[in-house]
Amino acid sequence: MTEAFQDSLAFAERLDAADPVSEFRQRFNFPSWRRNFSPVYLCGNSLGLQSDLARQYVEQELDNWADFAVDGHFHSERPWMSYHRQAARGFAELTGAKTSEVIAMNTLTVNLHLMMAGFYRPTRDRYRIVVEEKAFPSDRYAAASQVRLAGFDPDDGVLEWRARGLDGELFIEDLESLLKEHGHGIALLLLPGVQYYTGQVLDMGAICELGRMHGVAVGLDLAHAIGNVDLNLHDWSPDFACWCTYKYLNAGPGAIAGAFVPERHSSSDQALHGWWGNAEKTRFRMAPEFDPAEGAELWQMSNPPILSLAPVIASLELFLEAGFDRLREKSVQLTAYLEWLIRTKFSGQIVSITPADSRGCQSSLKVIDPALDARAVFDRLCEMNVTGDWREPDVIRVAPAPLYNSFTDVYEFASRLEQVLGEMSEAA
Ligand SMILES: *Cc1c(COP(=O)(O)O)cnc(C)c1O
Repeated sequence: MTEAFQDSLAFAERLDAADPVSEFRQRFNFPSWRRNFSPVYLCGNSLGLQSDLARQYVEQELDNWADFAVDGHFHSERPWMSYHRQAARGFAELTGAKTSEVIAMNTLTVNLHLMMAGFYRPTRDRYRIVVEEKAFPSDRYAAASQVRLAGFDPDDGVLEWRARGLDGELFIEDLESLLKEHGHGIALLLLPGVQYYTGQVLDMGAICELGRMHGVAVGLDLAHAIGNVDLNLHDWSPDFACWCTYKYLNAGPGAIAGAFVPERHSSSDQALHGWWGNAEKTRFRMAPEFDPAEGAELWQMSNPPILSLAPVIASLELFLEAGFDRLREKSVQLTAYLEWLIRTKFSGQIVSITPADSRGCQSSLKVIDPALDARAVFDRLCEMNVTGDWREPDVIRVAPAPLYNSFTDVYEFASRLEQVLGEMSEAA
């Protein structure tokens, strides 16, 4: 598959012509505000592009609100009463869960807190939360504040799974040692599926297994994993998992997030209750007694914000239509092509710190040539209408998304990068 890549536009175009999901690209809106160059958008790891279907579904609910008003709860095409269930099949498919184990609700950090309220059960001796060394700040803040609310000192209560080397790779053996040494004092592992900075895919099955062996609860943050890599939540069975939907899922800024609670916790009394977590058939009796819904719906507290859920529903439909297996197959090749071009064209200048044997769409590029100002390279790429993102101190993240990116995008990225480096060496 990767043996015969070529550094030419004609080659990239040939791969696009053979791509079975290439038609989806036309159904997305590429940014148009910069007009000098065609857009090369490689930032689906941060904010996915808008699909035409997302706009259509939002407009449909605005129309329904106008036309049905309160009766939209029962009489519109997708009644609001059960609107969140429209997300269940797509979420289940993408996370390897049962439809009863997933729920669309709230936003990511809020869900992390809700899930920790249920599954972080600190005791006097076992109260620590493990995060990884370069944890996304929101996750670390969430963990630290849970520890603090439980009456412990976050400096002592938040433990780090340390990364190794300059590339910041995480090794499962190090987590194992941490658990052997401190396991009796640890209440929760709060870990990502894909590390946001390096793009490393963690062995989520092994993490869950280690948690079980040591009697430690496991929560997974799948922000960078859903819609990107294969997930198998039902079999891995963490105590909970949460994700946002605006990255690879393209549901729009701040769109409604998702959560997984395994079947074994389906009738848990650890949920925080609200009326939308009450069984649908008795909800409108408005009784003082709470009658729990079954499955992950129990965790839903409020009636869902339809306008920010509509693009999630649209997005999941596109994923189901394209088929995740086909997308993943293309993604493996897209990112391999990207990294092949980097290795072939910019050896000694730029390297990918993303482990080649465990990655999704994303490649985290590091400028290693001391004669080059990494930030200036990034800024110049932006001016040439390449969208990736900059992460301090020196990483440029690029992530070709298989639903709307092409091999030509990847080729274009490498040629514009070549042009930038050429300009800089001339200036020097
Ligand atoms: C994107 C991301 C977030 C963002 O949190 P929000 O609550 O959606 O703003 C949190 N954690 C991780 C790991 C992320 O990648």
